[in-house]
Amino acid sequence: MGFVIVKRFDNSIDAHLFRISLEAEGIDCFLFDEEIVSLNPLYSNAVGGIKAKVRDEDVERTRTFLKTIELQQKPLCPACGSSDTYLDYTSKKALPHWIASLFSLLTVTYPITGKMVNTCKACGERFRS
Ligand SMILES: [Zn+2]
Repeated sequence: MGFVIVKRFDNSIDAHLFRISLEAEGIDCFLFDEEIVSLNPLYSNAVGGIKAKVRDEDVERTRTFLKTIELQQKPLCPACGSSDTYLDYTSKKALPHWIASLFSLLTVTYPITGKMVNTCKACGERFRS
């Protein structure tokens, strides 16, 4: 009997939320290296983050559960109903990009010129979730 890493996290809050959701499904989940990453987050990359591990025999159930969660969290395309979407960046038409860039350069701020939209890979529809 061994343990298999099923997911990695860079903070303990997300790791515990994941652990709790797995345990609600009846899958025992154990977090490794949580203390060192919580103590000094800069060590996260060095130790490979907080590792969520499950027993060998629970790996397939965990992967099925993760796929179910992923499908539930992905927005569906309003045009064709596909869940094969990705987040994309679009620029606003009201403010030309060069004006926003010049403004951000002069004021040493981050240019806010666009918004995030979901884009369907199947039909190309762009929509907000
Ligand atoms: Zn679509």
